Amino acid sequence: MNDYVTKLMAHVKAKNPAEPEFYQTVQEVAESVSIVLDRKPQYRKAKILERIIEPERVLMFRVPWQDDKGEYQVNRGFRIQMNSAIGPYKGGLRFHPTVYLGILKFLAFEQVFKNALTTLPMGGGKGGADFDPKGKSDDEVMRFCQSFMSELFRHIGPNTDVPAGDIGVGGREIGYLFGQYRRLRDEFTGVLTGKGLTWGGSLIRTEATGYGAVYFAEEMLKTRGESIKGKVCLVSGSGNVAQYTVEKLNQLGAKAVTLSDSSGFIYDSAGIDQEKLAFVLDLKNVKRGRISEYANKFKTAKYTPANPNLDHNPLWDMKAECAFPSATQNEINAKDAANLLKNGVYVVTEGANMPSTLDATKMFLDKKILYGPAKAANAGGVATSGLEMSQNSERLSWTREEVDSKLHDIMIKIHKNCYETAKEYGTPGNLVNGANIAGFLKVADAMLDQGLV
Ligand code: NDP
Repeated sequence: MNDYVTKLMAHVKAKNPAEPEFYQTVQEVAESVSIVLDRKPQYRKAKILERIIEPERVLMFRVPWQDDKGEYQVNRGFRIQMNSAIGPYKGGLRFHPTVYLGILKFLAFEQVFKNALTTLPMGGGKGGADFDPKGKSDDEVMRFCQSFMSELFRHIGPNTDVPAGDIGVGGREIGYLFGQYRRLRDEFTGVLTGKGLTWGGSLIRTEATGYGAVYFAEEMLKTRGESIKGKVCLVSGSGNVAQYTVEKLNQLGAKAVTLSDSSGFIYDSAGIDQEKLAFVLDLKNVKRGRISEYANKFKTAKYTPANPNLDHNPLWDMKAECAFPSATQNEINAKDAANLLKNGVYVVTEGANMPSTLDATKMFLDKKILYGPAKAANAGGVATSGLEMSQNSERLSWTREEVDSKLHDIMIKIHKNCYETAKEYGTPGNLVNGANIAGFLKVADAMLDQGLV
């Protein structure tokens, strides 16, 4: 760490107690951006990074709701409006029991740079609640979403802040949230993305993050004259991002062999083909079951339950060429990274946000594998949310082919931008620097133009 980053981190830690995930993302970005600050002192003088670290606004609110037994329940809701220099706040809502201020600040901070990379005019935000949709009835989820929106509706709008889904917030939750917003505001606008196709949603939004991650991997491989075809791939998670990562891998002739949830993972040596994936979609999106059921259904698969006493995740200890972490933050630690490298993995594409610890990231960079950091590799989701916003403004719906081709084009541009920026700033092939610096420059220039606000 250089002097500037050391001082900045001491300040961040003193000012934001007990938010380790936030420190992690700030440190990674600050290390990349310090290369720019050395070359362009105007950003340092205007305290651009110091300002980006401080959210423009943080909302924290009570979410009371009633369960099916008639008992009163109370959760905590949040919205972090991080930076709106280049467009309205944009970013998902996460419903998960681990949600607290630090997790959402890390996600909102990452979102600022990611959204800048998409080429679309979107600022960064993130929100959610420490509510666990797992095991809740549809009615309970609906009552929770309605109560959550009864506060949030005051602070969002199609030109102010446009939330989307994230962990625990999929099509069902977006529907309930949108219904309550529409009722309270008495207006039908594109205030959320990830909406249903008959009420303002965009084709391909559901698929976009997973598809985009695979397009990004393909671009990285092209730089070595290779393609994803025929590659064996490890995928973690079994939610939205993981599902459509596997689908695109299948379409491009690769073989995905793993999926997981918080209870464990399956390894299917025969590959998770489209028929098996259809089973997973029904299991996870309709029946809301556990991934262990995959191994009961398909005999080529083996299920390994999660073991919290292990210092590594055995999912990352399988022979493969590519890895697509698509579950959650810090799911690849240094031991996992060592296992991946030992097993021949040389392409890591982050579908999840910040799935690799700082140590794991450093190992991937040191080994010069093809490493696609989350901000760039999973930006296809928010980019397609941006396309949904454009369609809503125009009151038009583009075809599946149109949206997919725009998504593909955006992923190619994001890769090119990160690749060229990394080279320009003296670290060729380091897409972590490329993504952080390219995202920073766009936001920083807008902030300089707009003065001290
Ligand atoms: P989903 O809720 O659809 O799926 C999440 C998956 O990850 C589930 O299989 C879940 O298992 C697993 N998971 C979540 N938390 C943990 C944990 N602590 N330990 C082990 N497994 C866990 O979420 P998404 O697929 O939408 O999101 C996955 C990741 O991708 C997140 O990091 C998210 O921020 C990121 N992302 C999502 C985008 C999107 O468009 N949806 C866009 C960009 C990034 P279980 O059901 O057992 O909890």
